[in-house]
Amino acid sequence: LQSYVGFDSITSQIEKKLLKRGFQFNVMVVGQSGLGKSTLINTIFASHLIDSKGRTQPDEPTRQTVEIHSFTETIIENGVKLRLNIVDTPGYGDQVNNENCWEPIIKYIKDQHSSYLRKELTAVRDRFIQDTRIHCCLFFISPTGHSLKPIDIVVLKKLTEVVNVVPVIAKSDSLTIEERLAFKNRIKEELGFHNIKLYPYASDEDDEHDASLNESIQDLIPFAVIGSEQTIVVDGKAVRGRQNRWGVVNVENEEHCEFIHLRNFLTRTHLQDLIETTSLIHYESFRAKQLLALKE
Ligand code: GDP
Ligand code: MG
Repeated sequence: LQSYVGFDSITSQIEKKLLKRGFQFNVMVVGQSGLGKSTLINTIFASHLIDSKGRTQPDEPTRQTVEIHSFTETIIENGVKLRLNIVDTPGYGDQVNNENCWEPIIKYIKDQHSSYLRKELTAVRDRFIQDTRIHCCLFFISPTGHSLKPIDIVVLKKLTEVVNVVPVIAKSDSLTIEERLAFKNRIKEELGFHNIKLYPYASDEDDEHDASLNESIQDLIPFAVIGSEQTIVVDGKAVRGRQNRWGVVNVENEEHCEFIHLRNFLTRTHLQDLIETTSLIHYESFRAKQLLALKE
């Protein structure tokens, strides 16, 4: 009697399919102009980009205000294809009057959900729906060393309702290690006080490993980051770094900043979960509201 039927090969069958299709990862950056948004994105992904010059438009972006730009790059590592779509938003909070300055950003996020839903609901469905939903929103906090700005609280509240938000302390080389720690704790207090719910969210499905991984991430958030598009030679090794008054900051050195933690989080540990959470939590709640509205 044979008891082995061989269905355990399903994992490699799935893998083959997924590898062929590749992954789509959509990241949005939000924050005031000059906080180093473009630089950080380039620092995280540039070294992996095959063609950083030939910027192409994503297949079917939902038409939006002219200020929100997106570009897609394809990264291939060990046969795994990642289509990375970066959405750069105009610096919010730059104006004298910042009333409703977050609206185009929120609208953009919702428009992607809406276009996905429309495609899902059409009679002749595409076998594979192009996903433009934002999987992660990097929120840049100005390194004032004091506290969040009132506008930050408002925008964070709005954003966390519709997207996975990951806050970072921008240009953290302008703060000492002690100042950074104090600032980080202050920000955590404020986020708690205002009941702002950040990714990663606790889930019933989490095993001990997930739970402790998420806890360590929640501990680190907001990541204190430094970006640089410059290569500096330290001890004969080329590193991404910045030259400042005190010497060279190595962006990839964990003693200098948490850039490496953020990159690991985004690309190594949470990429798939960010995509899944977007679909299961944010998109699902958008979809439920829309379908309910249709019935009424
Ligand atoms: P964006 O407007 O938010 O996209 O900001 P940019 O990426 O264009 O950066 C604005 C300026 O800040 C540029 O001159 C960058 O070289 C500089 N910059 C970017 N990241 C950092 C950082 O981590 N530390 C410091 N000191 N300067 C930075
Ligand atoms: Mg920019």
